[in-house]
Amino acid sequence: MKKTDLLIIGAGPAGCSAAIYAVRAGLKTVIAGGAMPGGQLLQTSEIENYAGFIDPVGGFDLMERMHKQCKRLGVEMLTDEVAQLKGSKTPYTVVMAGGEEYEAASVIIATGARARWLGVPNEEKFKGHGLSACATCDGFFMRGKEVCIVGGGNTAFEDALFLAQFCTKVYLIHRRDAFRADQVTVNKVRENPKITLVLNSVVEELLGDETVSGVRIKNVKTNATSELACQGVFVAVGAVPQTDFLKNSLVGLADNGLVLADERTHTTLEGVFAAGDCADKYYRQAVIAAGSGAKAGIEAAAFVNLHR
Ligand code: NAP
Repeated sequence: MKKTDLLIIGAGPAGCSAAIYAVRAGLKTVIAGGAMPGGQLLQTSEIENYAGFIDPVGGFDLMERMHKQCKRLGVEMLTDEVAQLKGSKTPYTVVMAGGEEYEAASVIIATGARARWLGVPNEEKFKGHGLSACATCDGFFMRGKEVCIVGGGNTAFEDALFLAQFCTKVYLIHRRDAFRADQVTVNKVRENPKITLVLNSVVEELLGDETVSGVRIKNVKTNATSELACQGVFVAVGAVPQTDFLKNSLVGLADNGLVLADERTHTTLEGVFAAGDCADKYYRQAVIAAGSGAKAGIEAAAFVNLHR
């Protein structure tokens, strides 16, 4: 079994910041980031609210910079996925999906979150056939077409603006008439002639044969149903923490799957810390994930150095 001071699960902003702090505090630090390390930012076209970048920075570009920075500082980056976290006290055993095991004095969980789906009829059938949860990834295929985007948060509103650059029409369907998205972005959407807001409405069913040809929506105020023709549907209704692999571990999880962690990133297990969207009830911002990752790195370094 390989041994390390610290094993970080996840290579998004939280995992990378944690690694930078821990390795600079003298810890032998390994990140298990999976085959596509970088998390949700890999699917974000432009980031304008990450301090330090005068012009918008691409999500992929930002993650590449963090990974290079980690490597330069001596962090070992693995492309393995973690299958299980075993143990009740230090040292912990981290089991990779391929079966390899690591013994780690401390562990940081920074696995982020993945897209939530609508749970309506035909959703499984149309995934990849006109239905997507990533406009940045799949918007290109909808060039010159009419599309719907579902959700009322920043993702939905930013995706609507992104899609309006090359789609002929964008319907933004939201179940309320108030939004979680910030006001600046809401204003930009309202001013865009290609985008129509369809409010107080939920998608009841995705329509089509081989690929999406429309949606059936219901107005929740009037109960009236109608059909909207479109060739693409993008779902942007929030995220689910990626913590399934912890269900058989002793790490405490909330009912919604978030890792239970205090303001110093300590979980219910001593020496196991959590940072970023997998433990964030409120903010889910890259800069906050990075900040909480830094906290976890500092805490892990203090823990390991105390137990050497
Ligand atoms: P979010 O803020 O949680 O918004 C999810 C939206 O989906 C909400 O409007 C919610 O409606 C709606 N929704 C949830 N479940 C639904 C369902 N089953 N059917 C229909 N609608 C449903 O998620 P997000 O937009 O992905 O953003 C996540 C976090 O990342 C947020 O903190 C956001 O600010 C941040 N973010 C920031 C940026 C940026 O600053 N550049 C960009 C993207 C995301 P209700 O409003 O009715 O609950």
